[in-house]
Amino acid sequence: MEINVSLFTVNKRFPLTISRGTTAQTTNVWVKISQDGIEGWGEASPFGVGNHRQSTDTIKDALEQVIPLLQRFSPLQRQEIEQVLTENQAPSSVKAALDIAMHDWLGKRVGLPLWQIWGLDRHAIVPTSLTIGINSPEGAIARAKDWLNFTDVRVFKVKLGSPDGIEADRKMFLAVQQAAPKVEFFVDANGGWSLEDAIAMCHWLADLGIKYVEQPLPRGQETSLAKLKQNSPLPIFVDESCFTSSDIPHLANYVDGINIKLMKSGGLTEAMRMVHVARAYGLQVMFGCYSDSSLANTAAAQLAPLADYLDLDSHLNLIDDPFTGALLTQGRVLPNDLPGLGVQHSAFAT
Ligand SMILES: [Mg+2]
Repeated sequence: MEINVSLFTVNKRFPLTISRGTTAQTTNVWVKISQDGIEGWGEASPFGVGNHRQSTDTIKDALEQVIPLLQRFSPLQRQEIEQVLTENQAPSSVKAALDIAMHDWLGKRVGLPLWQIWGLDRHAIVPTSLTIGINSPEGAIARAKDWLNFTDVRVFKVKLGSPDGIEADRKMFLAVQQAAPKVEFFVDANGGWSLEDAIAMCHWLADLGIKYVEQPLPRGQETSLAKLKQNSPLPIFVDESCFTSSDIPHLANYVDGINIKLMKSGGLTEAMRMVHVARAYGLQVMFGCYSDSSLANTAAAQLAPLADYLDLDSHLNLIDDPFTGALLTQGRVLPNDLPGLGVQHSAFAT
């Protein structure tokens, strides 16, 4: 197969602040594979968790290194390709872009959307949450109102773990909840709390009717999750602490669910494994995203019927998404009937 790589820059309508910093723009990587006159598309988007960084340059360099090793394969040889990528320590976002592209190619080859190839029920897809980043109470209310004007919001995911402490978190959260009394709320602290803060905030948020809390403690402090679980009235999900299925057994006794992202897992193949391993341990699953465009989020939407919760909203906050694919319908990001991913270049493409 032939493999081509190009970069595209996407800008957020509203910059997103989480406990680790603010993102307004990212340069993502578009991977196109082709064979037998059929193209398959994939995306890698940069992200960082603690000391673990996958920058645009890292992704580009790693692709340049592995592409010569992969050209002898067909897009049907995903097992062999995964082995080559693992042996060469390819970053997970590079694995993801290639795995997504090979699935897109497969769907186009057989003429079916991926969700149908997997026999999934598109009606089982739950509404996606829409994200409100760390902000002043007034700024957070303005962001909530903008989302409410933009679409039929069913769930807000509020980013807490403010560097200004849990009092700032409380003020912001109350302001948003009062501005959107009919909407359901999840909270993501992105590892911004100490164990003590996390216990206090879980009790406080439980009284306010929150469904669950995501990544209360920083990656690397997983041993404290046992104590948090004993003392939290709310379900705990992990995101930064869980990249692939091999992370799940160590976490399973101390958490209630995991956030699966294609850039962390290395694509749809491993995301599917993660769902099965999580279910075997009785855990819930959600799918999330980084600064992904419609391309990667549509790939995640193909698997979305398997998730209890969805947070696939990054493309909805882009002013220049070069792609269209899964569309927001009554709060749900639904894959279409086109073969493969069903992603096309949008009118904004340059
Ligand atoms: Mg998260």
